[in-house]
Amino acid sequence: MRIGAIEAGGTKFVCGIGNETGFIEDRISFPTEHPEETIKNVITYFSDKNVRAIGIGTFGPINVDPKSPFYGYITTTPKPGWSNYDFLGVLKQTFNVPFGWDTDVNAAAFGEAKWGAAQGLDSCVYYTIGTGIGLGVYIEGQLVHGLVHPEGGHILVRRHGEDNFEGICPYHKDCLEGMAAGPAIERRWHMKGNELDATHPAWELEAFYIAQSVSTTILMLSPKKIILGGGVMHQEQLFPLIRSYVQQNLNGYISDTALFDDINSYIVAPVLGDNAGLCGALALGVESLKSQKSL
Ligand code: ADP
Ligand code: ZN
Repeated sequence: MRIGAIEAGGTKFVCGIGNETGFIEDRISFPTEHPEETIKNVITYFSDKNVRAIGIGTFGPINVDPKSPFYGYITTTPKPGWSNYDFLGVLKQTFNVPFGWDTDVNAAAFGEAKWGAAQGLDSCVYYTIGTGIGLGVYIEGQLVHGLVHPEGGHILVRRHGEDNFEGICPYHKDCLEGMAAGPAIERRWHMKGNELDATHPAWELEAFYIAQSVSTTILMLSPKKIILGGGVMHQEQLFPLIRSYVQQNLNGYISDTALFDDINSYIVAPVLGDNAGLCGALALGVESLKSQKSL
């Protein structure tokens, strides 16, 4: 069964074809430009692929309320042309197939739950730590939406005593994203994250901030797996540092082995690796076909 997948990122789009086992047989990638050109590329790619459904995991914020007249829109974004853009509607006019639609991070959480690090579990959260910080939430077998959708990157964090960096979030300055996303690392240390040595003090500070948000997530949602992805998490030395800070933050309060002996398999990297986004979109596509069949 051929299912289409679209991973719509702020800098690049990845389109692919896969099946219900999570196998991806083909993909292309192109830069995110003005929506007309970008969507034209998407339509051209899928036009001869004969897909049965399409899943979209996209940058946001987006409207995920099926009852809203603006369902399927990108809502507010500084990206030229994309604000209030009817992304889903435009594709629906061209392809008469069921569509899955969600944030890129909810999609990644779903893909990991179906085929990756949280396979067989009914809950997980997925943080992406890259150009921005996003949080996808899958709880009791459902992706979480609500007023809008989770925005865990903007959780407020307690400042490190020796950190005078003011933060770069345009809304909150020193929220998690303002202190710990890739561009914050670059602004603070005047070097890109991938140029900093594994022993650089940047990583201790990075773990200090990420662990606060992870601890809050554990306390609020009690997920069975925490998955940390995105470019910054390619720095593998962050994992033990984050685990250790999470243990310090919780201080033994939650008495589950996941927070003690088993923490190495509780706070993990995505198993789908750099495929997490596209596989997540594929999973949304597979699900949209299933739910249409069961109607
Ligand atoms: P995006 O968030 O734009 O989809 P990424 O997840 O690759 O893309 O994140 C890009 C950010 O991550 C940039 O700020 C970049 O400097 C940082 N980054 C990418 N690779 C690494 C690395 N190996 N180590 C540290 N930071 C990295
Ligand atoms: Zn913020």
